[in-house]
Amino acid sequence: MEIINRRQRMMSVARKLRREENRTIGFVPTMGALHSGHLSLIHEARAMCDVVVVSVFVNPAQFGPAEDFSSYPRDLTRDAALLAEYNVDYVFAPTVEEIYPSGFSTYVTVEGLSNQLEGASRPEHFRGVTTIVAILLSVVKPDFAFFGQKDAQQAILIKRMVRDLAFSAEIVVPPIVREESGLAMSSRNNYLNDDQRKAAAVLNRALSKAREAYEEGEHSAARLIEIVRVTIGKEPLARMDYVSVNDAETLEKLEKIDDRPALVSLAVFIGSTRLIDNVVLGKATKHDVAGAKA
Ligand code: AMP
Repeated sequence: MEIINRRQRMMSVARKLRREENRTIGFVPTMGALHSGHLSLIHEARAMCDVVVVSVFVNPAQFGPAEDFSSYPRDLTRDAALLAEYNVDYVFAPTVEEIYPSGFSTYVTVEGLSNQLEGASRPEHFRGVTTIVAILLSVVKPDFAFFGQKDAQQAILIKRMVRDLAFSAEIVVPPIVREESGLAMSSRNNYLNDDQRKAAAVLNRALSKAREAYEEGEHSAARLIEIVRVTIGKEPLARMDYVSVNDAETLEKLEKIDDRPALVSLAVFIGSTRLIDNVVLGKATKHDVAGAKA
């Protein structure tokens, strides 16, 4: 496994793999602090592609001024050891200056999809995400890029960006990996103490109740939202940020779930840690593969 810090080096390695060796590249972008959620994406990439590239980069452009950029967990030594165990071929771990050199002034925004749900609570967040993903896709030029369903809105935006700007990568969205309690794995779970970690299982419990109600015939978004709110409300350590029911592709707000898959997504504060989770109703596929492969 080679750890690459320079984008020129990453570009030339990727070019050689594609052109001279004719090998398919699978790419998994991460911010490090790796857990089983990340590893499931890497596992999928390993199964689908000849070469696996993982990036580890805590992207300042996607953090708001009051957010946790400086305290975000960073441990490249531990991450690199895990990645080597998972037979990753290349780790791309650039510095902030390498990605955003002085004078950097070009940003990518997916209009319409960026300022609701997570975007409403975190202005500029998705502009930062789509900008870094555009840069990374341009550097690595993978055949497949893997994004977790955990960040459902992010995956939707990236698929739209890839389609609109004609990136050649195909986007693969593997399912959410959870702890035994149902808590979705997240690097931010590191911020939780034991009591908070137990309390955080309420996110998945609330979504599961909504799913059960849906399966028993409740298709009204307002009533499903109420079920989630009541469940979250019963957990003293939890404070609701938002819960919403949207079309799983266009993010259009839904009043009723009918024949199209619906995304039920929420954000909840446990203490000062903000956690997100989601479930897609009206859809049974394991994988959601979409993209703009020429
Ligand atoms: P992050 O390091 O948090 O930016 O996450 C990197 C990638 O891993 C993103 O595509 C996330 O959606 C994905 N990911 C994070 N947590 C999970 C999880 N619990 N299950 C599946 N994918 C995840």
